[in-house]
Order: sequence, then structure tokens, then C-alpha cells
Amino acid sequence: MATRKSLKNLEFKILNGWEDFARDNPHARFIPEIAKDLDGDVYIRKRGTEVVYLLKEISEDGMMHLSCLGCGGYLAQSIIRNKIYLDKSISPYEFVLYCPQCEQDPSKNFPILKKYQKKH
Ligand SMILES: [Zn+2]
Repeated sequence: MATRKSLKNLEFKILNGWEDFARDNPHARFIPEIAKDLDGDVYIRKRGTEVVYLLKEISEDGMMHLSCLGCGGYLAQSIIRNKIYLDKSISPYEFVLYCPQCEQDPSKNFPILKKYQKKH
């Protein structure tokens, strides 16, 4: 059970290995940021959001098991077909983790993609 700790002093930074993706896809919905507190607890959030997840464990196959810090619930995953990726070499699908209690299903909210115009 997560204790109520102050998250104010946590400094989130982009998870290792995601820097290139974040740079090339400024409108991506799932860019994980990571922070560690003095007790060694590890927190993850999506860039641009305030909902924070607690890292429970990393299994042997490298999967991160996260729970929502706010409600303690398990996370869900939404698969979004992103128009912004169609002319790029990477997958047009994005897998977005979210807390079904604290966050809206990201696949139900597309307007941000319509603002995006490729520059060349
Ligand atoms: Zn939650």
C-alpha cells in the first residue's frame, strides 16, 4: 500500500531509451517519465500528466508492473491508432497506459492529433 508521501520534490525525467522517440514524436501520448524518492520508491508518469504510478516490480522479462499512486488500482492499456505516425517508419499504433479510475481512456480523446501538421 502506497503511503501518502509528498511528490513535490520529485524530479521526473524521461525514461532511459525514450529520448529519441520523445524528440521525434512531440504529440505522443505515452512518453514515460521516471522519478525516484529518498526511500528508493520509483514513480512513473506520462509526460504532461499529473497522475503518478508506483513501480511495484520489474519482472524477469523486463515488464514493469505499475499501480496508480492515487487510487492504488491496476492500470489498463489502450491501443491508439495515431494518424501522426502514418508517414513515419515506426508503428502507427501507440500503447498508452492509464488508470481507468483516475484518467479518461486515451483512445476516446483524439482532438490533439488534428492540430498536428507535419512541417515538411
Ligand atoms: Zn488511479
